[in-house]
Amino acid sequence: MAAAYPGQARAVQILQDAPRPPQLIVFDLDYTLWPFWCEMYTVNDTPSLYPESRGILEACRELNIPMAIASRTPTPKVAKAFMNKLGLSGMFESVQLIPASSGYDHHSAQKDTDHLPAIHRETNIPYTEMIFFDDEFPNISKVARLSVTSVLVSLGMSVDILQTGLKQHAANGKSQRRQ
Ligand SMILES: [Mg+2]
Repeated sequence: MAAAYPGQARAVQILQDAPRPPQLIVFDLDYTLWPFWCEMYTVNDTPSLYPESRGILEACRELNIPMAIASRTPTPKVAKAFMNKLGLSGMFESVQLIPASSGYDHHSAQKDTDHLPAIHRETNIPYTEMIFFDDEFPNISKVARLSVTSVLVSLGMSVDILQTGLKQHAANGKSQRRQ
């Protein structure tokens, strides 16, 4: 039997059972896929993921559900190095590591004006068919305005959060059809 990562089998089941499967899943990095701000580290450090992150990513890959990354990290070099070390490079249709011009300021490189539009341009997938996971409420509320199903991650990515996102995505589909 093929080795599976924690949560992978359940994630596959949940994705297969989803009434409205997404065409793309977009993940933030810091405090969404991994439990730290990568700016606190250097490219020489050894990163790790939240316990169920890899199982979720592998489940999406198993089911051919495209994925993307949207991060405002001020240290995209560290993010890229960590993705390489974790074997995540090549798993994503689009990787947007776009820092704000000065730290986490609120005037530049927002996820709704920069990251998600870049992902949309690269993949041609409509916003309404995407699910976006992020741990910061301002990102969630902004990206939700693009009609992306946007889900707040409070304690790291988990299969339970994935399930919440899929339910929300199905509900959003219903309300879009009513409009
Ligand atoms: Mg984050």
